[in-house]
Amino acid sequence: MNKKPDRGKSLRGAAEAQLMLSPANAQPQRPALELLHELQVHQIELEMQNEALRQAQVTIEQSRDRYVDLYEFAPVGILTATSDGLIAKVNLTCSAMLRKERKKLLNQRFDLQLLPEDRDRWHRQARLALQSEGKHSCELALKRGDGAVLYALADYQRTEIDDAPALRVALTDITQRRQAEEDLRIAAIAFESEEGMMVADTHGVIIRVNRAFTALTGYSPQEVMGKTPALLRSERHDKAFYDAMWQSLRDKRYWQGEVWNRQKNGDLCAVWLTITAVAAPDGTVSHYVGSFSDITQNKLAAEEIFRLAYFDPLTHLANRRRLLDRLGQALTTAAETGRLGAILFLDLDNFKTLNDTRGHDSGDLLLLEVAQRMHDSVRAGDTLARLGGDEFVVLLENLSAHHGEAAALANQVGQKLLHSLDQPYQLKGFEYHGTVSIGVGLFHAQDTIEALLKHADLALYQAKSGGRNTLRFFDPAMQAELDARSALEADLRQALVKQELRLYYQPQIDLQGRVVGAEVLLRWQHAERGMVLPREFISLAEDCGLIVPIGLWVLESACAQLRAWQSDPGTAALQLAVNVSARQFRQADFVDQVRSILQRSEANPAYLKLELTESLVLANVADTISKMQALKELGLGFALDDFGTGFSSLSYLTQLPLEQLKIDKSFVRDLPGNHNNEIIAQTIVNMGQSLGLNVIAEGVETAAQHQFLQQHGCPLYQGYWFSRPLPLAEFERFLQAKGQAG
Ligand code: C2E
Ligand code: MG
Ligand code: MG
Repeated sequence: MNKKPDRGKSLRGAAEAQLMLSPANAQPQRPALELLHELQVHQIELEMQNEALRQAQVTIEQSRDRYVDLYEFAPVGILTATSDGLIAKVNLTCSAMLRKERKKLLNQRFDLQLLPEDRDRWHRQARLALQSEGKHSCELALKRGDGAVLYALADYQRTEIDDAPALRVALTDITQRRQAEEDLRIAAIAFESEEGMMVADTHGVIIRVNRAFTALTGYSPQEVMGKTPALLRSERHDKAFYDAMWQSLRDKRYWQGEVWNRQKNGDLCAVWLTITAVAAPDGTVSHYVGSFSDITQNKLAAEEIFRLAYFDPLTHLANRRRLLDRLGQALTTAAETGRLGAILFLDLDNFKTLNDTRGHDSGDLLLLEVAQRMHDSVRAGDTLARLGGDEFVVLLENLSAHHGEAAALANQVGQKLLHSLDQPYQLKGFEYHGTVSIGVGLFHAQDTIEALLKHADLALYQAKSGGRNTLRFFDPAMQAELDARSALEADLRQALVKQELRLYYQPQIDLQGRVVGAEVLLRWQHAERGMVLPREFISLAEDCGLIVPIGLWVLESACAQLRAWQSDPGTAALQLAVNVSARQFRQADFVDQVRSILQRSEANPAYLKLELTESLVLANVADTISKMQALKELGLGFALDDFGTGFSSLSYLTQLPLEQLKIDKSFVRDLPGNHNNEIIAQTIVNMGQSLGLNVIAEGVETAAQHQFLQQHGCPLYQGYWFSRPLPLAEFERFLQAKGQAG
């Protein structure tokens, strides 16, 4: 600061000089008082000047502080870089922005603060700026001290430091703006994703759609903007569906689900749609954003799975599972409407023969044609099903509230089916004539599915036995029979416990009229029912498995009897024939059972004969032969019962370890006279002779039958002509009468 010459000092000097030059008594040039006064005035002036000076000093200092504040705390980061690129000055804002202490920035290279990819660009820019006047700017990415990236807008211009050119750079933090831009860019990319997108306002009016939307719907943005998504509605969804969608959007601000859309070209397209309500900062809904993807392919795959699970692959009719579903629904509907429905069981007559003689291809063709004709014979809402093989079902719902009327309607449909399926079929180059049997059951809400199926099945059974190509209703008589059967079954379970079973013995007679043994035949002595015959309960016992314990009881009783007879010479040589049912014989441990019964009873196996029917043997020849052989090793023998009724072929007849053939009573009944049966009886006798088997004729009721058989060489007989099946005591009396037992 320039110091002003001290005027006060020079004045005082002049006054003092004057005083010293002039002695006291000397005449002064000017009066001393006057000078003194002037001096005082100067003194005051001087003080005032000093004060002003001090003030100026303060002001200067204050403004300098302000400048420093302005520089250091400017809203932008400011730095000055030398022409070599070294940071010569940097303000506090800049150091804060870069999260780096000032001293760590000073004298560092500015370009090293940048991300590597920005450095070259900055070098070029900086060179240019140093060579020219004016302001420049560019965006730079800088490395912050904490590792994050700082995006900054750099404004720079040439300046000077100590007369040397330098660059002054002001950095404005634009990281947030960049972030927002980035977000927008990502959002824009996302919006143009594979998913169809639409943005709608609060009124549901579409304001924006993406390209995928156009691809998935066929509508261009111009065609949909300003409209509502109702444009895409298909009639696959009802009002309730859309109401529920809006309800969810109001409650949860979100809805997701499967929607069938109608595309611009009219095609249906299944989409998986997500709608989100976008909330404004104040919480109110500002937009709806819907995004969807095409799931038609998934739907088709799901439909395919459904088809495989619920439909018959050949005819595409419902399968059993689906039928059961539909029946359950039908019963519910019946409960709501009070109307009866009907279920029709169809079974093709002689289908097996077609399959066996013409091959499965022809069989399949027939089944397809049958399915088609059935389809043409029923109403659209009726359910058609194929249960497998040649069994078909028609389910008719909502027929009538009146039993009679419902039955008439079901009959109408049934007759129509009979007629249609009775027409000739063109199968692989030949004409086939097939018929069908139909069983019908009516149902109300109270019925169970099981009962329903059973009823129709029973009716079908009746139709079949009623001569085929017929229709039968399940009627109350059938029901009564059903009930009786289940009551019988319950009783039969008790029969063994209550010891109600008996064995009857029917004598078997040789050519000399002597009793060689007996067939044991089962009787059931029931307290109320009286004597129940096998034909009334054996098949039932087979069905419910009771035949196994019952059969064992028969075997045990027969063996015990053999053992009891052993000590009496009159009875010791008697052979007992025991009937064995298929179910019993098929038990895995049947051989073991027989062995242990023989051991326990100590009966001589040579006197035990098991009667197997032809159908039993035919069902599984291999198993039969191996079991028969194992049993034969135990020492017992076999008779083939009801011989002639099956289709035994000579080839395996020779493989069976048989001892005896039993001519079925149906061939004996009209002997002599019926030419066919005469031949059959003779043939069986001859066959037995040539195979080394003995032959017995059962059901011999008359002397003429006996005589005929005798004449043709049949060695053994059984039948009413000799004796009915007898209780043990009577059988023994019969023996005595013949003089055979003591
Ligand atoms: P099956 O083994 O063919 O028995 C012969 C059937 O013919 C017996 O009927 C017998 O009473 C009857 N019969 C005997 N002589 C004559 C006759 O001169 N004329 C006529 N019309 N019938 C005669 P049953 O006792 O009613 O037995 C019927 C069937 O029940 C038997 O036929 C057999 O298959 C079965 N069965 C009987 N007892 C048993 C048993 O203990 N176990 C098994 N699994 N089945 C048995
Ligand atoms: Mg028998
Ligand atoms: Mg028989």
